[in-house]
Amino acid sequence: MNNLNNINFNELSSIDQEYFRCINFVEKAQSAENKKKPISMDSFYLLSIIGKGSYAKVSLVRKKDDNQVYALKAIKKSLIEAKNQKEHIITERNILQTVNNQYIVKMKYAFQDKQKLFFVLEYCGGGELYSLLSSKKYLNEQQTKFYAAQLVKAIEYLHSHNIIYRDLKPENILIDKDGYIKLTDFGLSKMDIKHNTEATSLCGTPEYLAPEILEQSGHGKPVDWWTLGNIIWEMMTGLPPFYNENRKEMFHHIKELPLKNHPRIQGDLKNLLHSLLEKDPNKRLGTIDGAKEIIDHPWFKDLRWDQLEQRKINPPFVPNLETDIDLKYIDYEFKEMPIYSVDNNNSSMHSGNFNQYDNFTVQSVQSVQSLASKLSPEVNDSQMDVENSYEQIQGMNHN
Ligand code: ATP
Ligand code: MG
Repeated sequence: MNNLNNINFNELSSIDQEYFRCINFVEKAQSAENKKKPISMDSFYLLSIIGKGSYAKVSLVRKKDDNQVYALKAIKKSLIEAKNQKEHIITERNILQTVNNQYIVKMKYAFQDKQKLFFVLEYCGGGELYSLLSSKKYLNEQQTKFYAAQLVKAIEYLHSHNIIYRDLKPENILIDKDGYIKLTDFGLSKMDIKHNTEATSLCGTPEYLAPEILEQSGHGKPVDWWTLGNIIWEMMTGLPPFYNENRKEMFHHIKELPLKNHPRIQGDLKNLLHSLLEKDPNKRLGTIDGAKEIIDHPWFKDLRWDQLEQRKINPPFVPNLETDIDLKYIDYEFKEMPIYSVDNNNSSMHSGNFNQYDNFTVQSVQSVQSLASKLSPEVNDSQMDVENSYEQIQGMNHN
């Protein structure tokens, strides 16, 4: 009945003609969608390793069907289980799927195979803030302010969604092709934090840990304002304020020692850093009224927040990327790693015994949206059919 080949199209009324055109269009779109294989390692060309963390290996990939370049973060399931990280990984996946902010990397897909979980992320080609700092040793006050302001906006956004980030450090702050920053790595973040003492786990990167995390007295949003203070200090001086090679000593400094003087930290900046690096989270800047307290601080008085949001401020450093796969800002340590090391086992889904992470996969949300927008001009008289097929496709994609 739906097959246009079996009827004489010209004998139909114009409404019926329109109806059959719609049916035909929906069927074609659905079958094209059906033909698309579920996303897997086979969907990508692996180009280079570009980063490594304590859990993940990140590579640059190109998607075969649309030629888009992405950062592929791969984490071994065996490592997740050995280190008891399952909850953190699921949280990371949930946060990445929820957030939508210009200072945070966007996740395009998530999938898994027998051994690994994969996040497909927007690629930031300008490298880590860490590499920029290592090459320049330290930044001047205006340069520091440009990056600090974006971190304030990123944290403000996360806190407004009751997410604490907990792992602010120069390695997790990436520079995009325009020279603006994006946060990556939500492996230590926590959702549903409404109060300031709800979280209890001892986690983070040693030199940036807030005193209340070390004391295990319960922590919340103020930890991110503490680490912001650390990063600003580090951008200005080259090292975090309480850094010490001896970890025990460093923890003692974080908990007990007052902030030292530094010749590069003066005036309003000194006042801001003393207020952010306040050991008592109840007295810390940002604790009562959130990001507004930091935005209103005199150190930021010459920053045009509206211009920043519109990306109209000239960044201190704009990466000179000649192609979408230019790796000049990626560390040699990673680029020299053999590419097969990211995927040295057969990546396709095997039947048999393996740990399946339920609901981890996020399959092609964008393609559902683009299908919907492709359909909409054609289907004014046939909304019900379209809604049905749209639901079917959505169901299929989330299985
Ligand atoms: P950690 O040791 O902090 O827990 P991790 O194992 O969770 O790290 P990530 O921090 O997510 O891994 O990624 C490791 C590195 O890969 C980053 O420091 C960064 O250099 C690089 N990287 C991650 N995401 C991207 C991206 N979207 N674009 C470019 N590089 C990225
Ligand atoms: Mg990291």
